[in-house]
Amino acid sequence: MITDVDLGHLRRCVELAAQSLEAGDEPFGSVLVAGDGTVLGEDHNHVASGDHTQHPEFALARWAAQHLTPAERATATVYTSGEHCPMCAAAHGWVGLGRIVYVASAAQLEGWLTEWGVPAAPVAALPVTAVVPDAVVEGPVPELVDDVRALHHRLHRTARRAEPQR
Ligand SMILES: [Zn+2]
Repeated sequence: MITDVDLGHLRRCVELAAQSLEAGDEPFGSVLVAGDGTVLGEDHNHVASGDHTQHPEFALARWAAQHLTPAERATATVYTSGEHCPMCAAAHGWVGLGRIVYVASAAQLEGWLTEWGVPAAPVAALPVTAVVPDAVVEGPVPELVDDVRALHHRLHRTARRAEPQR
């Protein structure tokens, strides 16, 4: 179930995604929250340099592996503007993080990109649970999906890239 607290963290993810777009990067933002509600970290995509592994969920998973105990990781929640890609889902699973809450699903994003004629990504748009079967995942969150869609539409309208998005 999505609570008002969840929605607050997801709104921050959308804000981070917007900042990322403003900074010339792709609009993905994520927040890592401890079991007691403390915000532990936040990040957005850093793929503009050409390194397409620089996703926020991957960065937060690595941070968690280095700074949190297994028990702390298991009770932490990862909020994100778009569902984890398979790379980030795998990192999430290996590190043993807890719940995932996303705004837009990988399938939704893939649908939008197809609709806009964006070249197919080199990595399949699998749901997180196809990569991490026991993951606790919630989304999409309809209240914020249009905001995320608008950010991606801006990216592909203003700067059609030769490189595919994740
Ligand atoms: Zn990813």
